[in-house]
Amino acid sequence: MSKLKIALQKSGRLSEKSVALLEECGLKFPNGGGKLITESSNFPVEILFLRDDDIPQYVEQNVAHIGIIGENVFLESQKSISIIEKLNFSGCRLSLAVPKETDYEGLNFFNNKKIATSYPNILGKYLRENNISATVEVISGSVEIAPGIGLADGICDIVSSGSTLLSNGLKEVVTVFKSQAVLVANQNLDSEMQQILNKLLFRIRSVQKAKENKYILLNSPNDQLEKIIQILPGMNSPTILPLAKEGWSSLHSVIGEEKFWDIIDELKEAGAEGILVVPIEKMIL
Ligand code: ATP
Ligand code: ZN
Repeated sequence: MSKLKIALQKSGRLSEKSVALLEECGLKFPNGGGKLITESSNFPVEILFLRDDDIPQYVEQNVAHIGIIGENVFLESQKSISIIEKLNFSGCRLSLAVPKETDYEGLNFFNNKKIATSYPNILGKYLRENNISATVEVISGSVEIAPGIGLADGICDIVSSGSTLLSNGLKEVVTVFKSQAVLVANQNLDSEMQQILNKLLFRIRSVQKAKENKYILLNSPNDQLEKIIQILPGMNSPTILPLAKEGWSSLHSVIGEEKFWDIIDELKEAGAEGILVVPIEKMIL
């Protein structure tokens, strides 16, 4: 039986979380020892460990059927591949930055200036859309030093916390593109590969959904139950069980974690006690 080939970044900011995602999907495979290709013992996939920049090309050519890359790399590559799922990790942004002493008053600053970047396609499109005419200097790494050595007036690079910019005397002035890890796929998968992919995608979505939600348990006086149920934005009606303590019930439901922080005070005010919020491992929809 043939296997779905998945390309992951070999070593870098996506590697650990990409491997963890497949493991959370129940896939067992040897990882480590520097092997470049490995296969799962319990799911029909083969995993290729590659440089992230090479993955779009491999996926386009069907050497790998799917892959995990940053959306920034997907866009920059301009390959005919499709994003099939956003993965909610390795969030970062592609930003324009200038030396921190620069008197920056708006995008027009970049007119007739030089910008160093490893992302000429994304930057070029952004500049065109904003009617800025600048010279783009393409360099493949250590972009932050370009202004300091007189190569450019500003840079366009990946930022997460901004600390690298700061330590190189730069300040972030514009966000060009917000990125996260994405699952990409070849556009002409045969039906056998598509079937394996669908199975994997179902698992990925269950894992993702579980991460976004929490299981909540709380105790409520019976006369407050109605009110508390109104407060809980449950996905379906909550489970209610009587407590040994007279006049009280235990209420169980599933809620989005962020929503929980918004409603916690309301719940307490309404008389909820013993509130427990527990992670969900998988959520099948
Ligand atoms: P490779 O050796 O595979 O080419 P790389 O140096 O190009 O690796 P990494 O720095 O590991 O790439 O980043 C991989 C991806 O992780 C980026 O394309 C981006 O989508 C994401 N990312 C998240 N946070 C950051 C960050 N702070 N700096 C750079 N990339 C980040
Ligand atoms: Zn790379």
